[in-house]
Amino acid sequence: MKYYSTNHTVPEVTLRDAVVKGLAADRGLFMPERIKKLPEDFFNNINKLSLQDIAVRVAESFFGEDVEPAALENIVRDTLSFDTPVVEVEKDIYSLELFHGPTLAFKDVGARFMARLLQYFIGKDSGGKTVNVLVATSGDTGSAVANGFLGVEGIHVYVLYPKGKVSPIQECQFTTLGRNITAIEVDGNFDDCQRLVKSAFLDDELNSKMLLTSANSINVARFLPQAFYYFSGYAQVKAKGKGEDVVVCVPSGNFGNITAGLIAHKMGLPVKRFIAANNANDIFYNYLQTGEYNPKASVQTLANAMDVGDPSNFARVLELYAGKHEVIASLIDGAAFSDSQIADAMKKCYEKTGYVLDPHGACGYLALKQLLKEGETGLFLETAHPAKFHDTVVGIVGKEIDIPERLQDFMKGEKQSVAMSSDFPDFKSYLLAHSKD
Ligand SMILES: *Cc1c(COP(=O)(O)O)cnc(C)c1O
Repeated sequence: MKYYSTNHTVPEVTLRDAVVKGLAADRGLFMPERIKKLPEDFFNNINKLSLQDIAVRVAESFFGEDVEPAALENIVRDTLSFDTPVVEVEKDIYSLELFHGPTLAFKDVGARFMARLLQYFIGKDSGGKTVNVLVATSGDTGSAVANGFLGVEGIHVYVLYPKGKVSPIQECQFTTLGRNITAIEVDGNFDDCQRLVKSAFLDDELNSKMLLTSANSINVARFLPQAFYYFSGYAQVKAKGKGEDVVVCVPSGNFGNITAGLIAHKMGLPVKRFIAANNANDIFYNYLQTGEYNPKASVQTLANAMDVGDPSNFARVLELYAGKHEVIASLIDGAAFSDSQIADAMKKCYEKTGYVLDPHGACGYLALKQLLKEGETGLFLETAHPAKFHDTVVGIVGKEIDIPERLQDFMKGEKQSVAMSSDFPDFKSYLLAHSKD
C-alpha cells in the first residue's frame, strides 16, 4: 500500500517511509491510497470477537501488504496488552474506556503500535544502527511515547519537555523510566522544545551521524491503529443488544482520534453518525456551522489535551470527503463546552450515576446528553483516566479518587533528567556526544 500527501505535490511513499518520515516532504500528512471495506460477515460476528482479534483483522487491512502476517499479528497483540471495555454510564449512554494502558490514556495504543512497527522496519534495514526518536512534549505525548518505546531494542528516545511546565504526574511518567529513554528538561517553553527537535531534523551533520525520526501524533503508525477500538466499542454495544443507531462521540483536539473513527466508518463500521466534542477551542465546531475553517490561537482549558487552535488532522478529514462541507456536516455533529460546563457535567454525572469522568471524557458525555436522539445509543470515548487529573477531578466531584497502581509506581520512581539550555548548539553537541551507533 502506498501513502500519499494531503498536499498532493510529492510522489507517494511506502509504509516504511511514511512511518520513518512522519510528515511528507511537502509538509502534508500521509494518507493510505486505499481504504478497504471489511466483509459483512466480519460485522455479523464481531460481537463474539475480542479487541485483540478484531485488531488483527483491521491491521491486516491497513498493513497486510507491507508487513508479514505473523509479524503483524505479534505487533498487534503486543501493543494491546490491555482491553478497552465499554461501561454503561446511564440509560443509552456508554463509555468506551481507553485508559487501561500503561500511561492511562488512549495515546498508548498508537504509541505502542508505532514503536513496534518502527522496530520491525529498522530491524530489517538499519544495519544495526540505533534509531533515535526525538519528541517534544507539553505533557501527555511524552509519557505515551516514552512508555510505548520503553525497552524496544534498537531505539533510543529523547523526550524534550519544558522545565517546570508539566504536572508532576506527567513528569514522572517519562523521567523515571531509564533504559532507552532519556528525558531532557529544557530551560524554556514547549515552543523551544519543538524548535530544538525541528532544528535537529534539519541539521546535516547530525543526520549524517545519527538516524533520527519523530513520533509525532500525525504519524500514520500512531494514527491508524486508533481505528481498532472503534470496532471493539461497536462490538461491545452490539453484544449488549444495542448495535442499532449507534452514535460515537469523540472528545477532540488535534482530530487524530476521530479521523481514525471516520476511517473505520469507511471500512464499513455500522455507526450512524459521529459527534466531535470540543472544549472552548471550537474551531471545528465553527467549521461545521459555517463551512469556514478559521484557526485561532489555542486557549487553556480544563481538558488541556484538547487545547488545539489549528487541528493538524483537519486536512485528513477534508481528504476523506473530498473537502465537501455538506457531507462532513451530515456525518459529524459538533459541540463545544466552556470549563464551567465541563466541571458541571463531571459533578452531575458523578452525583447521578457514580461514574467519575475526566475533563476530556466529560466533553464527550455532555455532547451526548445534548445531542442524542430518542432510540439512539451513545458511545463516548473516555480518553484518559480521571486520576491523571487528580487534583482537578477531586476538586470538582468532591471525593477522593483511587490512583491506579501503575500510576503510583511511576510516582515512586526516581526522576532522572538532563538539564538543557534552549540553544540548539548545546542540544546538538549533547546528541553527538551521546549517540550510540
Ligand atoms: C490527545 C488527547 C485528546 C485529543 O485527541 P486528538 O486525537 O488530538 O483529537 C483527548 N483527550 C485526551 C486525554 C488526550 O490525551
